[in-house]
Amino acid sequence: MKTVKKTKILNDLVVLNEMELLGHEQILFCQDKETGLKAIIAIHDTTLGPALGGTRMWNYDNEQDAITDVLRLSRGMTFKAAISGLSLGGGKAVIIGDSRKDKTQKLMRKFGQFVDSLGGKYITAEDVGMTPKDMEYVRMETNHVTGIPKSLGGSGDPSPVTAFGVYLGIKASAKYKWGNDNLKDKIVLVQGIGHVGETLVKYLSEEGANVLINDLDLNKLQNISKKYNAKIVTGDCIYDLDMDIYAPCALGGTVNPNTIERLKCEIIAGAANNQLADEYRDSILCLEKGICYAPDFLINAGGLINVYSELHNYDLNNALNQTRKIYDTTLEIFRKAEISNLTTNAAALQLAKQIIREKNLK
Ligand code: NAD
Repeated sequence: MKTVKKTKILNDLVVLNEMELLGHEQILFCQDKETGLKAIIAIHDTTLGPALGGTRMWNYDNEQDAITDVLRLSRGMTFKAAISGLSLGGGKAVIIGDSRKDKTQKLMRKFGQFVDSLGGKYITAEDVGMTPKDMEYVRMETNHVTGIPKSLGGSGDPSPVTAFGVYLGIKASAKYKWGNDNLKDKIVLVQGIGHVGETLVKYLSEEGANVLINDLDLNKLQNISKKYNAKIVTGDCIYDLDMDIYAPCALGGTVNPNTIERLKCEIIAGAANNQLADEYRDSILCLEKGICYAPDFLINAGGLINVYSELHNYDLNNALNQTRKIYDTTLEIFRKAEISNLTTNAAALQLAKQIIREKNLK
């Protein structure tokens, strides 16, 4: 019994240490026996405003993986909001379980009650494993939800705005690297042709880029290939292909020592969150190899800008205009990194942290 107690205390200390290390304010662990809900809500930093970030449902192997994911994702949201000029903090929630089997209306409503218990300090939205219907259930219990379907008066799917921002981030990277942002005939690998990836493929092919597409879903690949005349590439060898730009739009962690060594591209710029497996190590490896890495939390902020706009009388044009700023900020970050001898990731983090610090001084 004694040992169990000791282990538990040690685990608590590990979480608190991780929170301290990453700068988190609060974590809410939620469990409900009746519905089977097991969720974690992480609030990273609310200096600039309430912590906004989606809810992800994932079948994590263990609790530690869920904690690590929610801590990392919520921290990323703080910097994404700050660098995008939004009055928002960073937060995220994870529900532990299989979204295809374990989700019920009761479970989602219970989760909504936990969100509500935070009194607006955390605002939730849709993320991986969630559907608009699930968010409707959450909304029955709390007003602190955004990214609501258009049919219910909300702004709808934010992915097209995310894709627009990523496209502008790619163009800004091209301008910095090649002195010209025209993507005609550039070979671009889009990995993951889901909600964001497909719209990105559309922008790229309209500009005359030579688009390669990769996904686990073969039907999707065939449809998008036909629609946009994109070339399907599959298998692990995709990282060895000749390409100018690699746009990760599926999962995080695909930029790591193994892939960086193999990639022949000059630019990495895409939508996926946490693209760098280890942000410090891998941003240095990119720099050393002469690859321009466009920080993910900077160029994939269009969706956040869109859902933020929903909280303030939604206007798509306002959201798009705000998203257009990603082009200039990306260029600013590349130049700042060069002058200060920093990686682009470090330069972007520095800018985001400076914005938060300045708010603290006011
Ligand atoms: P999505 O689920 O609609 O699409 C992801 C696609 O990636 C799917 O087609 C899936 O089959 C494919 N995929 C999954 N694993 C893969 C693998 N190992 N190799 C190749 N393809 C794989 O997701 P989305 O909304 O398009 O988001 C894409 C990424 O961008 C995610 O990492 C997400 O967190 C991030 N993101 C999305 C938004 C948004 O507005 N949707 C905003 C910011 C960041």
